[in-house]
Amino acid sequence: MTTRQPEFAPSPRLLLGPGPSAVPERVLRAMASPPLGHLDPQYLELMDRLRPLLRELFQSENELTLVMPGTGTSGMEACLLNLLDVGDKAVIGVNGYFGQRMVDIGWRSGAEVIAVERPWGETLDEDAILEAIEDHRPKLVAFVHAETSTGIRQPVEKIARAARDRGVLVVVDCVTSLGGCPVEIDRWGVDAAYSASQKCLGAPSGLAPITLSERAMEAIFSRKTPVRSFYLDLSLLARYWGRERVYHHTASSPLLAALYEALRIVFEEGLEARFERHQRQHEALVAGLGEIGLSLTTPTESRLPMLNPVRVPAGIDEADVRRELLTEHGIEIGAGLGELKGKAWRIGLMGASATDNNVMLVLGALKKSLARRSLRTA
Ligand SMILES: *Cc1c(COP(=O)(O)O)cnc(C)c1O
Repeated sequence: MTTRQPEFAPSPRLLLGPGPSAVPERVLRAMASPPLGHLDPQYLELMDRLRPLLRELFQSENELTLVMPGTGTSGMEACLLNLLDVGDKAVIGVNGYFGQRMVDIGWRSGAEVIAVERPWGETLDEDAILEAIEDHRPKLVAFVHAETSTGIRQPVEKIARAARDRGVLVVVDCVTSLGGCPVEIDRWGVDAAYSASQKCLGAPSGLAPITLSERAMEAIFSRKTPVRSFYLDLSLLARYWGRERVYHHTASSPLLAALYEALRIVFEEGLEARFERHQRQHEALVAGLGEIGLSLTTPTESRLPMLNPVRVPAGIDEADVRRELLTEHGIEIGAGLGELKGKAWRIGLMGASATDNNVMLVLGALKKSLARRSLRTA
């Protein structure tokens, strides 16, 4: 290798897919801060400053609230691998791609998984889940609050209350909902929840906020076998994030600084205002889509504001339209996953991406792209 390699200089993108979302300039600057040692008092202070912000985000008083050193999936694996011991039972609701991922991870923990399925694009059947809890008496029940693959919002309270009454732990995936619509871990009675830095929080991917109740911690400390992952072992991570400050991994201070700056922005705006903005931009998008003859695949009452699955009109090659948006307009939108493959686009309006201007830009680009195709086929 004697030749010089070209610099990597990607052209700008407008990120309107299922994540990552746009990262504000202030967060980019924070990420350019020089690395600190993972036990440097200044870094430890950054960790301490983050925790109350995370608790506020999750609406929880949980002592064990920290950031996993990985993407959203590391939060999912941490919850399931720590709470499930070999031979335990888990009831998991599946109505989309990420519910299925929970099932796949559940099995890897050595637990027996009972999947309670619903067609993609529908909410879970709460009664079917309660019945599975009665029949199987599992250690935990898990499901996704905001199913990014389908744009469906799952009500949490009823399942959570019934599960707690029976001493069953409740795990909820809040990867896409946290910071974009109400998440109330303590009021809902959820024992473990996780999210990701790159959806509605406005930081790059690479970190997963996570929170666990005292009941969940007791379950972890009374395990019969060690957690199968050293890296995701929450009893070890708790000693690094807690008073003892025992080394566990070389934390990335620039990444944590980025998340901290992103959360400062979240609370400058205020949670209520932020939820309202996501809802407003979602409604503006739906209205604008209607004007160009497009609609969402989801029923109005269970729509997520931050993830909009748009039905692809008959005769349109959805991948071709996405490619055109990316190459001609620099706009990234998502493809349909699983049962929605080829049938839907997924337009994300998450965090800093949810603005008037971005709604207008994606509508304009879609309109142009579709008009060109109808001319071609006419
Ligand atoms: C994105 C997402 C994940 C996975 O997060 P990664 O950061 O991609 O690992 C998990 N659950 C849901 C609901 C998601 O949207």
